[in-house]
Amino acid sequence: MEDKVARDFLVPNYQRIPVEFVSGKGATLTDINGEKYLDALSGIAVCGLGHAHPELVGVLANQASKLWHTSNLYRIGLQEKLAEALVKITGLERVFFCNSGAEANEAAIKIARKTGSDKGILKPMVVTMKGSFHGRTMGTLSATGNEKVHAGFSPLLPGFKHVDYNSIEKTKKALELPEVVAILVEPIMGEGGVVLPHHGYLTALRKACNDTGTLLMLDEIQTGMGRTGNWFAYHREKILPDVLTIAKGLGNGIPVGACLARGVAGNVLQPGSHGSTFGGNPLVTAVALKVLEIIERDKLLKRAGELGDSLRQSFEDEIGELEGVKEIRGEGLMIGIELEEPCSDIVNLALQDRLLVNVAAGNVIRLLPPLILRDSEAEILTSRLSRIIRKFLTKAG
Ligand code: PLP
Repeated sequence: MEDKVARDFLVPNYQRIPVEFVSGKGATLTDINGEKYLDALSGIAVCGLGHAHPELVGVLANQASKLWHTSNLYRIGLQEKLAEALVKITGLERVFFCNSGAEANEAAIKIARKTGSDKGILKPMVVTMKGSFHGRTMGTLSATGNEKVHAGFSPLLPGFKHVDYNSIEKTKKALELPEVVAILVEPIMGEGGVVLPHHGYLTALRKACNDTGTLLMLDEIQTGMGRTGNWFAYHREKILPDVLTIAKGLGNGIPVGACLARGVAGNVLQPGSHGSTFGGNPLVTAVALKVLEIIERDKLLKRAGELGDSLRQSFEDEIGELEGVKEIRGEGLMIGIELEEPCSDIVNLALQDRLLVNVAAGNVIRLLPPLILRDSEAEILTSRLSRIIRKFLTKAG
């Protein structure tokens, strides 16, 4: 009864799974009844270093006892340090800090529009992809290439052109429009169902952008921070975007996002043109700095790449030949198991077996386990989930 009363006070915008966690350690979450679950989702690619990482707890508590928030009216040393570290890792030049992925993409869209406006383009356009996801604000939902996300929120923001993902031809055609100033694209589409483009896609987009003077803006909010086995997915193709958006794993659960830019794009937002009250405050930047340090020190990029390869191979061995399993794919610890039919029930079946997974695009079981997942936990994940998928397919068949 109490439960129902509490729920009545919330906007009903989420279809919540009936479980409440009260503590966590590493890749394990514990619910209010003391039951333990293996977390193969990391709060949707957020807690890459797992739950209650002792060093992150330490740095958060220490910073909390000193200073939480001042304002971007003043210099913030930790923010400057974090910007310098991110510039070094990414090869971009300047950083704007915000509090979420959507806000990072909003900054990117504003950078694109301002760059166009400075060139005298009255109605600048950004090319985005069908099936993409960029956030829930009016700007980012308009950029998103999914009608379900748009539904009920017209009029959408003008200035976006959606083209087919993984099609260089269609993108090049769009770049012929004189109003197009930028492309915003995910290196792997996450919410779209762990969709990987062909190898060389980003390189071809980079070239098309160079040829037309267009900004290449990468949304690495889900793929970034080591998830795919590199700091960022574009590192695999050895190209450099003009704008890069990140969030999720950057704070391991502390809300922090960033939009990085270089060249002209790094300088178009001048005083008065953009800002954020909380963005990059001492509390969140202290934690994010520690996140970067731990990923580097503990060699988690290599670990994510190798563990991802072995997890995908184990799933291939266990269920790859099963009728009803269409494809097992991914990069690093971003893994999709596509079934032939809708499989949202898998989430509840897995929950009953104390395993947390997610389903994207209706029929893709999405795994985003923490980068610190142990070998023994990876084995549990493979055997438990394979058993659940077998059971699901037998029932459905
Ligand atoms: N971009 C991508 C690729 C995402 O996966 C997400 C969230 O899932 C977002 C943007 C939006 O991030 P946030 O929910 O932090 O606003």
